[in-house]
Amino acid sequence: MLVRRSLHQAGFRYRLHAADLPGKPDLVFPKYKAVIFIQGCFWHQHQCAMFHWPKSRTEWWRRKISANRVHDEAVQDKLRELGWRVLLVWECALKGKARYNTEQLLELISAWLRGGNSFSELPPS
Ligand SMILES: [Zn+2]
Repeated sequence: MLVRRSLHQAGFRYRLHAADLPGKPDLVFPKYKAVIFIQGCFWHQHQCAMFHWPKSRTEWWRRKISANRVHDEAVQDKLRELGWRVLLVWECALKGKARYNTEQLLELISAWLRGGNSFSELPPS
């Protein structure tokens, strides 16, 4: 939310939860042909301290979470085919010990919007 507001104050215009794009990206920046997903570290199996396999129903969780990952990759491929650039902002970039502060996030995200790669992640993997 804070990041969203500061991006807006910095002059970036975006749409939220665009239902007309694959995967309904959280933020869409038409001018920069760029989309941002806020990714939960648990649900999307991020390699970070916030991800742990649950101790019960292990098999069910493995299936569930690997299906999420397959879905994520398909969504990112489709977006790239349509000419969109994709930034994943992981939950651990926003909260927890390793989070960025709002200024850092604003700086990193605006740098990426203005001229970043076709695919990027925060924190970088
Ligand atoms: Zn994470």
